[in-house]
Formats: sequence, structure tokens, C-alpha cells
Amino acid sequence: MCAAGRKEWESTLLQLGRRPVRTATLTLALLLAAPGTLTATAAPATSRPSATTVLAKRGDRSATVAAAQRLLVAVGVPLAGGVDGIYGAGTTAAVTEFQRRRGLPQTGTIDVGTATLLGLVPPTPLLARGARGAAVTQLQQRLIAVGIKLRGGADGYFGTATAAAVSAFQASKGIAASGALDAGTDAVLAQSVAALAPAAPAPAVATDGTLAPGSRGTAVAEVQRLLAAAGFAPRGGSDGIFGNSTTSKVKAFQSSRGLPPNGIVDSATRSALTAAQPTGNAVSATGATPAPATGDGSPLHLDFFPLPATCNLRDSFGHPRSGGRKHEGIDILAARGTPIYAVKAGRISAMGRNYAGSLAGNALTLTMPDGTYFFHAHLDHYPDGLTVGSNVAAGAIIGYVGSTGNAGTPHLHLEVHPQGGAAVNPYPLVRSAVSC
Ligand SMILES: [Zn+2]
Repeated sequence: MCAAGRKEWESTLLQLGRRPVRTATLTLALLLAAPGTLTATAAPATSRPSATTVLAKRGDRSATVAAAQRLLVAVGVPLAGGVDGIYGAGTTAAVTEFQRRRGLPQTGTIDVGTATLLGLVPPTPLLARGARGAAVTQLQQRLIAVGIKLRGGADGYFGTATAAAVSAFQASKGIAASGALDAGTDAVLAQSVAALAPAAPAPAVATDGTLAPGSRGTAVAEVQRLLAAAGFAPRGGSDGIFGNSTTSKVKAFQSSRGLPPNGIVDSATRSALTAAQPTGNAVSATGATPAPATGDGSPLHLDFFPLPATCNLRDSFGHPRSGGRKHEGIDILAARGTPIYAVKAGRISAMGRNYAGSLAGNALTLTMPDGTYFFHAHLDHYPDGLTVGSNVAAGAIIGYVGSTGNAGTPHLHLEVHPQGGAAVNPYPLVRSAVSC
């Protein structure tokens, strides 16, 4: 940044009492939960500030407006009326033009993202190397959806590969490649994801059920699950966004089945996908266990993998345990303190505390409206504020991996009880919720 530019934002920071920096931090969850992306939240949903915090808008008169006007002029955006410190029609048009050029949502107001790209506030990192969790998974899924290569896929860990992917995205958008997610990069990424959708407010699913690149929603997530189960897992998992990775997997699947590889999920592709589903864990010829169903008869599936994605999964359901017990769930190994995500939206119906001689240790039950419940054991601890009765979104953090109770190595013991009944093998459900 040139000396003049730096002086601009230093004075702006003084004007605003460093408000932009705080604001950017406070709006992290929100900026990440852009429309159309997954509904993961780090905590039970409560009321939140508005989606894009506005720093300056039409009608304002201030030194901040003048600073913004000088920066707009400096980057060559025509500004009718010149630098006068008044946010009128000319400034609104100039801001809109700046937003159009930079791939930001064209609102005509200066929000944190616009201010960051304009150089009015410094690019505060919202997510950077070392971060973990649902917000990182969501960032990774959005990068993948817009066609950025991400080695390792959406694994919930912000490591070297994610930093490289963020840098690649930034470079592609003319943003200084920092490898960290700031409000400006986040806003441009959100707009890029939004641009995947057809320009017209077309329904997410065509009336004939055809899904095409740009489609979104639960029908897309279902197709992604079918693709994964057929061995063509999109790298972003079942994120409900029909982006580049899903398109290439649909094409690969179509080629493998002798269908025209057009990347569109039409009725022929859908039939082939249904036919390609493995039957070993569903209804088998020997008349064994049907796939678990929800209260309305639809098949049960997980909206979120219960941990940051891992391919280190083993089916240990039914294995013998001490005292003649059988293993009622599966064990997923993970480091102590790894966040545990709600696999579905639901209500925390029980929270057990560890005690001497306890088998389950700190153990939590998440119950869906149809009575289906998920039992999680051996937790190290629970997130602050989580109580019995808390409603949680799919992907919310509900605990941390540990080894409380009868557990040697830290791991998550997970059971699933469809519609409140006996435990069924969670392995196929968990396996289909991760791309490996
Ligand atoms: Zn276990």
C-alpha cells in the first residue's frame, strides 16, 4: 500500500475507534454462513448481527466517506461530484461500480468486505493456517465449488493445502495472495459461489427433477451422496452445491455407465445412480437388515460427518466387548480435543458426566424430531453453554473427543438408534458422509 493509502486507513481507524477490526471479528460466523452454503453454526443459533456490517452508506457525511472517495478515485473509478465527504448518488454509483469490478455483491454501500478490498480497513484474517472446524470445512467446500484445487479435500483443517487454495483464489480475483481468509476475500468467494447459480431465480430443482451445474439444495446433496456411494465422491462432500467438482464426478460417472457425459443429472443418470448403489448394507438378498429410515420413511443419512473428515474408519459394530456385551456403535479415532459435529439438526436430550467406573464417560445424546438419536461417548468435554434442551444445527460443535470412561485411546464412540429403536450399524451412514 502506498504511503497515502496507509494514511487513509490509519485516519479511518482513528475515526472509527478501530471499529472495523472488531466488527470483522464479530461477523466471522456470519460472513462464513453466506446464503446457500451449509447451515453449520459453531453454536446453537441465536439472533445475530446483520449479514454484512455496513461501515458507510448513502446519506452519510464523514471523513470516512471522504477517505473512501479518495480511494475510489485512486483506483480509477469515476466519481461524479468528486471527493466531498458526502455519500450521495455519485458515491453510491462509484461504490457499485467498484464492487462490480472486484466481484463483490453490488450493494452500493461500503461493508467490511468492500472496505477491505478498497484498502479502507486492513485485511483482518478471519480464518488462517492452524484453524479447524466447521467454518474451515465450509470455506473448503466453497473453494472446491468454485473450481479451486484443494489437495486433501474438505477436511476441516486449515493447513498448507488450504492456504495454497485460498492464495490461488485470491490471485484469480486480483486480491493480494495472503493465504488467509479476510472479509474481502470472503465476500468475493461468497459472490463467486452465488454466481454458480443460474442468473434468473430459477428453482434449485427443475420441475422434471433434472439437476445441473449451479443447482443447489438438498436434492443436490442427495445426488452427491449417491455419487459418493457409487465411488464418485465430489471433493466437497455432500455440500448441496452443484459446482465444478460435482460436475466432473457426474461426467465421470456418466462415462463409466455409457451415458453422454454432459454433467447433467437427468432421469437416465439418476436411474443409473440408483442402480449403482451398493446393496451390502441395505436390503440384502438374504433378507437381512433394511437401511435405517426416518419417521417419514425416507432413508436416514447424515448431514455432517461427526468429526473433521477422516478416511480412517473401521467397522467395529457388533464386535465383542467386556462382560459379554456387543459393540453397539463404531469407534472413530481422533486426537484429544478434536471437535465433534452434530450429524443432523436436533436437540440435546441427554448429557452424561464421567464418574469413576463409568463405561461411556462424558456422553451426549442428540435426538431428531422423529425420535432417531445419536449417542456419543468418551468426550473430553462439552462446549460452553451447551445444555440438555439445546437445539443445534447440523454441523454445530457438540463436544470434543476424549477418552473418558472405558476408553484407552481418545476416540469418538458413535451409536445410531433409528426412530428411538435398537442400535443399527452406523458405519455405512458415517462412511457415506465423507469423501475418501
Ligand atoms: Zn465404542
